[in-house]
Amino acid sequence: MIIGAGFAGYRTARTLSRLARGRADITLLNPTDYFLYLPLLPQVAAGILEPRRVTVSLSGTLRQVRLVLGEADRIDLDARTVHYTGPEGDGGSLSYDRLVLAAGSVNKLLPIPGVAEHAHGFRGLPEALYLRDHVTRQVELATATDDPASSAARCTFVVVGAGYTGTEVAAHGKLFSDAQVHKHPLRTGMRPRWLLLDIADRVLPELDERLSRTADRVLRERGVDVRMGTSVKEATREGVLLTDGEFVDTRTLVWCVGVRPDPLAESLGLPMERGRLLVDPQLRVPGRPEVFACGDAAAVPDPEKPGQYTPMTAQHAWRQGKVCAHNVAASLGDGEPRAYRHRDLGFLVDLGGVKAAANPLGVNLSGPAAGAVARGYHLAAMPGNRVRVAADWLLDAVLPRQAVQLGLVRSWSVPLDTASPELARVPSGPGRKRSGGEATESAKPQPAAEPARKQSGGEPAESRPGGEPAKKRPGPRPPTGPHLAPGPVKRTDSPDSPADPDHPVDPFEGDS
Ligand SMILES: Cc1cc2nc3c(=O)[nH]c(=O)nc-3n(C[C@H](O)[C@H](O)[C@H](O)COP(=O)(O)OP(=O)(O)OC[C@H]3O[C@@H](n4cnc5c(N)ncnc54)[C@H](O)[C@@H]3O)c2cc1C
Repeated sequence: MIIGAGFAGYRTARTLSRLARGRADITLLNPTDYFLYLPLLPQVAAGILEPRRVTVSLSGTLRQVRLVLGEADRIDLDARTVHYTGPEGDGGSLSYDRLVLAAGSVNKLLPIPGVAEHAHGFRGLPEALYLRDHVTRQVELATATDDPASSAARCTFVVVGAGYTGTEVAAHGKLFSDAQVHKHPLRTGMRPRWLLLDIADRVLPELDERLSRTADRVLRERGVDVRMGTSVKEATREGVLLTDGEFVDTRTLVWCVGVRPDPLAESLGLPMERGRLLVDPQLRVPGRPEVFACGDAAAVPDPEKPGQYTPMTAQHAWRQGKVCAHNVAASLGDGEPRAYRHRDLGFLVDLGGVKAAANPLGVNLSGPAAGAVARGYHLAAMPGNRVRVAADWLLDAVLPRQAVQLGLVRSWSVPLDTASPELARVPSGPGRKRSGGEATESAKPQPAAEPARKQSGGEPAESRPGGEPAKKRPGPRPPTGPHLAPGPVKRTDSPDSPADPDHPVDPFEGDS
């Protein structure tokens, strides 16, 4: 039984089904029917790739694996059962002989006033689609107005967190909005303005300094306002107050300050390392030989850096998935267990256009060479859909990008403080039952959110109620206070999250 079909869980399922050759029942529990190739998500937000390109069908590629759609909300280690909630609110439980926990991570929130209400994360497909539409709409609204103040606020985009996600979102976003304005210049003559903030002293703080320098240079040449040593003190409907005292009028706050492990791991009451489930080098949970964990949700000892744990990256999750599958098979008498080892293959940061910053196998590259390596790497690394991705890239190279807003994902559909960023909230979604029949907050339907009537493709008021609450997760969750996302959504930052907005992002918690 594998929980989560991301990099780690998908690879575990795929490898295990090859090793088992029909001799094992493999069940994969995941809220969506696809594997999401997260590194290309910024290209979805920038309108380069259609959203389905970055997905890989689970049932289409894992033929020997039973796919159960749902989210695990409780694991009973003694009874060896997993309780889950399905997509239509119905629950169930699944029993297992071996369990692999690969539930990944969720957006990390810091307790900064207004952020939960006004910021959006960048962790799942709904958030990427929301951002694509939102940027398009802001530029269109700015184009139509004669009011310079309104135009400036709509065309100002603030991205917080200069890890690889924030850096890529800002780099692609600037190109995307510039292209729109190039076709339809703003009446006020302004240009879109993108700000990239981080409390760290450099862009890509957790990566090699040479990658930082390349990314910093490309961003500044492109006109992105890169402000290091700066964060958000307060977010409001009208804009954001920065820690340097400046108030920036904006309608867009993208929160990329990092991720924290999925809260499901904490609920097990097993030894943890900063929210990640502690495992041994063979990815086994100490004292529970039938339980394995890998990917972002697991603290895996790093053999290259004794005393440390592998960072939360796709590379590690993908390779750990393979080792995990071998060790699950070994635990059933097929083969020998192996320890997780890795060789650093370097890192790629796609900066849009033909530019990237990369250090494959330690060789530093920038410009078009890095861009070509980045695209080649992604095509090789994706477990499917390569031809469609390549076709979209080709079309993007020869045709103007399509900037239209479909308005399918509204602001309240993608709350920042959700434990399941892979699912968009829907108005009056089905209620969910706690395992054991106890009704959750969501069992009582909220009034449905009305569609925006007066703005084509627009947003309903952010405070509009209705919607499916976040899934029930065990463990204490302090309330966020009044927040405007639909339904009672629980925050996912740990109770010990730093109260100081200036607190640097912990590199061990990964970057989203
Ligand atoms: C925008 C973005 C860009 C990134 N770019 C890069 C990059 O360029 N290079 C890099 O190395 N890393 C990158 N990362 C980080 C990388 O994607 C993660 O480290 C990696 O996805 C971790 O893999 P995982 O399998 O642990 O988790 P995930 O890939 O997140 O998968 C977790 C899965 O578990 C499911 N799940 C969650 N909770 C439950 C539950 N309760 N029950 C059932 N299923 C559940 C989720 O729906 C998901 O399918 C990026 C991350 C983001 C967000």
